[in-house]
Parts: sequence; structure tokens; C-alpha cells
Amino acid sequence: MKIKVLGVFGSEGQGQRPSAFLVNDHVLVDAGSVPGALNVEEQREIEHALLSHAHLDHIAGLAYLTDTLAITAARGPVLATSIAPVVDDLRTHAFNDHLWPDFSTIPTPKTAILRYRTLADEVESRVAELWVTPIRVDHTVEAVGFLIHDGETGFLYSGDTGPTERIWQAARGLKGLKAVIVETAFPNRLDGLAQASKHLTPAMLSREMKKMPSDLPLWIYHIKPHFFEETTEELQKIDPARIHILEQGKTYTL
Ligand SMILES: [Zn+2]
Ligand SMILES: [Zn+2]
Repeated sequence: MKIKVLGVFGSEGQGQRPSAFLVNDHVLVDAGSVPGALNVEEQREIEHALLSHAHLDHIAGLAYLTDTLAITAARGPVLATSIAPVVDDLRTHAFNDHLWPDFSTIPTPKTAILRYRTLADEVESRVAELWVTPIRVDHTVEAVGFLIHDGETGFLYSGDTGPTERIWQAARGLKGLKAVIVETAFPNRLDGLAQASKHLTPAMLSREMKKMPSDLPLWIYHIKPHFFEETTEELQKIDPARIHILEQGKTYTL
């Protein structure tokens, strides 16, 4: 399985793109940045967008991707995929003909370049050649992480979350799990802000690590650009052998 890091930050800075990952060229896992990281041909290969929640830093790139698809005669629709409350948020608050055009009716409702797909909580579903299970996490809005595997190997994606339980439990039962892509947003001195916004600091992450399957490498994403150096230094003190900060633009193979 191939995971390309399109954007790795919890917001936007100069050269620092919001979070998005592209699995095997066809499946987005979150879509904070897409056209900023891929050429038009690469964008046209995208068939599915798994969305952890509807915050802008996870969906803005989907808005611009639909724009690309609309003006380049898309091969087929992109399927915006998540649990029902997240799909409802997208319909109601994003692609609503106010914030952005309703691309689920463009060019026509039958040939629309954006379609929605709802996944049931904790039920494994086929998405392209992958198996995907959404699991609820603890964020300020309805949000999930995903267990994603291809039958042989897989990874866990936390989405945005504060301290949580269920996804770590579920991960313990998954065979072939090779990595945990997990968020950390703020440095330790901003613990209050992390708690209020339901994100993790390095100290909170080290407590979460006790609940995770042991020994898996942790691939960190979603550090806020403004605190990147400080947060990275604190993360590296926890366990440099196990914790790696994902690099934007790089492709990882499981
Ligand atoms: Zn976020
Ligand atoms: Zn969020």
C-alpha cells in the first residue's frame, strides 16, 4: 500500500498544507489540500475521499478538487465518504450553493462529479481495493478515524481527536496493522487549548500510546504550523525510535 502525504499540517502556512493523504493514487484520506499537491491528471485519478470530519482543514481541497473535475471533463464522480453526520455537514454547510457550489448536481444531477457515500459506524466496507472501518473519536464535532487495510497490511488514521478509547481498542484486533497515523496539534504548554479544541499535545499522546497496540510506529500529522518546531522537539523526546513526523510530499509504503 502506498500513502502519499499531500498535506500534513493542522492549518496552512507558507509551503505548509492542511492534512490530506492519497492511498494507492485513487483514495483520499482527508482532503485539506489536493490541487495544491497534485497535477490535473493525478487529481482526475481520485475516486474516493474518506473524510474524518467536516472541518475546513480536512475538506478545503475537496472543494477545489470538484472545481478541477468540473472544468476538465471528469472521468467519473469523486465519492465523498464518511459516517452520516459528516456527510450531512458537507451537504448542509459546504457544498450548499452558498459556501461553494453544490457539485452533487453539476453538470447535472445524473452526471454529477460529486457524490456522497455513507458508511456505518464500526462496519467494514469496501472502498476501491481497500477495506475501511470508521470508528468514532473525540473531537469538537462529529468525527471518525479509520482503520484501512488491503487484506494484507493496513494502518490506522486517527483523524482529529483528543484523548479517546474506542479506536485503540478496535486497532488491537486488526491483523497486519503496520502504522498508526495520529494527530498532535499543540505543544505541551498549550494543554488548555488542546483540551478545549479536542486535540492532542505530545504529553497527551504519550498517555494515548499506553492504550494503543504496542510497538507500532507512530506517524504524526496535524501539528499547527506556528508551533511546528516546539511540538516536534517535544515529540522526539518521547520515543525517537517509534515516533516519526510525516513529511509533506513524501510517499510511504506499507
Ligand atoms: Zn484538523
Ligand atoms: Zn478538526
